[in-house]
Amino acid sequence: MTQARTHALTLDAADPLRPFRNEFLVPKHRDREQVYFVGNSLGLQPRGARAHVLEVLDKWAGEAVEGHFTGATGGMNSPALVREPLARLVGALPGEVVAMNTLTVNLHLMLASFYRPAAGRTVVLIEEGAFPSDRHAVESQIRLHGLDPATALVEVQADEPGGTISMAALERAIAEHGPRLALVLWPGVQYRTGQAFDLAEITRLAHAQGAVAGFDLAHAVGNLPLALHDSGADFAVWCHYKYVNAGPGAVAGCFVHERHGRSGLPRMAGWWGHDAAPRFRMAPEFVPAAGAEGWQLPTPPVLALAPLRASLEQFDRAGGMAGLRAKSEKITGFLDALIRQRLAGTLEIIPPAEPARRGAQLSLRVAGGRERGRELFDYLRDTGILGDWREPDVIRIAPAPLYNRYADVLRFVEEVEHWRGV
Ligand SMILES: *Cc1c(COP(=O)(O)O)cnc(C)c1O
Repeated sequence: MTQARTHALTLDAADPLRPFRNEFLVPKHRDREQVYFVGNSLGLQPRGARAHVLEVLDKWAGEAVEGHFTGATGGMNSPALVREPLARLVGALPGEVVAMNTLTVNLHLMLASFYRPAAGRTVVLIEEGAFPSDRHAVESQIRLHGLDPATALVEVQADEPGGTISMAALERAIAEHGPRLALVLWPGVQYRTGQAFDLAEITRLAHAQGAVAGFDLAHAVGNLPLALHDSGADFAVWCHYKYVNAGPGAVAGCFVHERHGRSGLPRMAGWWGHDAAPRFRMAPEFVPAAGAEGWQLPTPPVLALAPLRASLEQFDRAGGMAGLRAKSEKITGFLDALIRQRLAGTLEIIPPAEPARRGAQLSLRVAGGRERGRELFDYLRDTGILGDWREPDVIRIAPAPLYNRYADVLRFVEEVEHWRGV
């Protein structure tokens, strides 16, 4: 056995999160478990998810409409069931979070309330290369106000070697647009580069200019410990099918800071955002529920919420994000070190080297351009190692601390070496 293999197996044996791997359904490649590094795109299925979905189906079959409100898991109680674990996961007060809709919808709802251009304050600041859906949402909201994205949408350009953005560049952009700045909409972790950002610092800079600070945490939730309340952020949105493992199309998350929860902010309203007590009086006037729940629109998608309950229970059982992050830094650091030792010249690591400036994911630029990159990606997939491909020459590898092993990381490195040798 090589020294590296002994080392990887030792790390796995000492990993306190090791038992969690057995709680997931890992797809097979031929007759072996796939090495799955795509938890940043679609997390694996927790074994508990099926039972939670069946429970909802059984309640529907057995009680029909009466099942809406009976028992702790009565359908309409589903959002309340996830509120506390969700608040723990993102470092918020329970009243500041709600599970609803999907990410893009929640982003629109938040923009409707928090992007209120007035008195020359029209600019929205986003990062260069933002996720297309976020960009579409912002552009369309700017147009809804009769403004022109060519002037109201400003992208902060990457200024660091791998295509990442320094805090200094962001700070300059915020200062430059100061009195014209309405909103800074920033990722917790940038999906393409894997770079992580300091939410509290960005919020401080935005607020100092009188602008709103909102965050897209699609790649940060379940990946980094978050302290949303303390960060002072005005709002945040995220999805639950990436690192949170709640399944394809999972119900998403939304955070509205406590200070806005009773402020009567204008919003797009629906009956489920109405104060719960008198909701069924079916009166014509809208009285928003306090907190993030006041932004709910429709009846909760109870079936879709079931896997989220299972996955949040798992995060609680794992002891929350502190332990997960400790392993995550270690396993991503292991991958980083092996690439630098053994694959320099083949793979370039894009995110910053400091652990505080990245999450689980390493975005890796393949030397030789698109064709070589595709070749390597296909080779890995054929051997049972799945990452994901980002044009034109990037493979993203995201070891997920709940189910990836150090031995998986070593296997990836060995297979890239093997491919390079042939
Ligand atoms: C994954 C992701 C999305 C996807 O949004 P949906 O509404 O869930 O389709 C949007 N933005 C970012 C930054 C993402 O990473």
